[in-house]
Amino acid sequence: MKLTFLGTSHGIPEKNRFCTCNMLEIGEDIYIFDVGAPLAELLTNRDVPYEKVKKLFITHCHLDHMNGLEMFLRLCKWHVTDSQAEGYLPDKRVVDKLNEPLQTVGQNNSNMHIKVRHYTEGVVYQDENLMVTAIPNKHLDTVGGYSFGFDVEVSGKHILFTGDLTHTMDDFPEIAFSKHYDLIVTECAHASVETLKEQLSRVKADMVVVNHIYPQSKIKEILALDGEYNFKLLVGNDNDEIKLEE
Ligand SMILES: [Zn+2]
Ligand SMILES: [Zn+2]
Repeated sequence: MKLTFLGTSHGIPEKNRFCTCNMLEIGEDIYIFDVGAPLAELLTNRDVPYEKVKKLFITHCHLDHMNGLEMFLRLCKWHVTDSQAEGYLPDKRVVDKLNEPLQTVGQNNSNMHIKVRHYTEGVVYQDENLMVTAIPNKHLDTVGGYSFGFDVEVSGKHILFTGDLTHTMDDFPEIAFSKHYDLIVTECAHASVETLKEQLSRVKADMVVVNHIYPQSKIKEILALDGEYNFKLLVGNDNDEIKLEE
């Protein structure tokens, strides 16, 4: 399987960085984790047929994590003959808002199923390729919102997307301290590098990638931490690819 970062920026696009978007390819199938980048355009540029995208999972409903979702699903609905794409979002209000226009788009009956679904804590989705489990965090607690990270299991390999966290990072997924992950993708826009370091010293992983970094001056500090832990520590850039053997 291969994970490609289509977007690695925080709430605001940076030069050469779209907002958060992760593409996981398993065989011929594609799963997207957060859609803060212009997904349709980026897939077109890569000659990736939209039909390959099976499901799209959104950690929380900030636009830097979902602004490319509606465009992509609407295109799938009227333009793609055989799409299985569906979005999974944690906020029922946003689900209803997105589904209303989706019901009126398209003339292709085979795609009438395309919509977004609401998820809560626990197993969000499972098929022959992967299992996605939502882990709540406190990123939107102060505004009464819903925010999660995703535990993704693929053929015995484990990936953790922490999603956006709070400035204290006390909501860093506890499971990362007890379960071994092949790859953890986390952020550093809300907490200091010092706070990130405290959490990283507790995680069990082969590799940790930090994306969604603000301000950009932190990148140098984070890169300098590689070698301090018993896992590889990287800062992700748009178009970076990570291959994991299944
Ligand atoms: Zn964000
Ligand atoms: Zn956010």
